[in-house]
Amino acid sequence: MQKKILLVEDEPNIADSITYALSTDGFEAKWCKTGRDAIKTIASGKIDLVILDVGLPDMSGFDVCKEIHKISSVPVIFLTARASETDKVVGLELGGDDYIVKPFSPRELTARVKAVLRRVSEKDAPMSKKDSAGPFAIDRKRMKVSYFGKPVDLSRYEFKILDVLIGRPGWVFTRDKLMEMVWESPEASLDRTVDTHIKTIRAKLKDIKSKLDPIETHRGTGYSLREDIKH
Ligand code: CA
Repeated sequence: MQKKILLVEDEPNIADSITYALSTDGFEAKWCKTGRDAIKTIASGKIDLVILDVGLPDMSGFDVCKEIHKISSVPVIFLTARASETDKVVGLELGGDDYIVKPFSPRELTARVKAVLRRVSEKDAPMSKKDSAGPFAIDRKRMKVSYFGKPVDLSRYEFKILDVLIGRPGWVFTRDKLMEMVWESPEASLDRTVDTHIKTIRAKLKDIKSKLDPIETHRGTGYSLREDIKH
């Protein structure tokens, strides 16, 4: 999925070259000129990374970063015009993930953006996701799951739930976590929706093996994929 990058920069020339470089590299670039606009944008939508100029007209980039981190864990790369060490250190202590000193090439910046995004996604997923688990095999490119060698006909959300469970056999995923990982706007749906989808997934798996239930319910918590079923 295309990553959304928010650039907070008051100088149009710099902003132009950065947003151009970002979109050339396949990112969706949004631009705002003030700290206040940046905080509003982050509060209202999903942003994957913020590029934040330290010298903004309405407030300092460091203060913007503090405000951002009250509402979001989005990674931040600071743009600074001053090369002094204190700026760098203060920037990183404030929860910045990286910084870059002006002038810089847009290429260099997009490379930093990619590196930070990679680091963040590795932190979220310490192991690579499995593509098979016991009787399950998953083809993520084609969005297909097979169970004991037979294809399972799944809706989009059913697929996404199984994708999460198969990726980490034995891990217990709470309903909240599943909602967050599977639904684009979790707040719009009810908790029960996860239960409803698990129920339909189970019914479809039972059509293939009537006596088995490979999904374990953890009362009051969530669900996991049983690790003890062999193909
Ligand atoms: Ca500036």
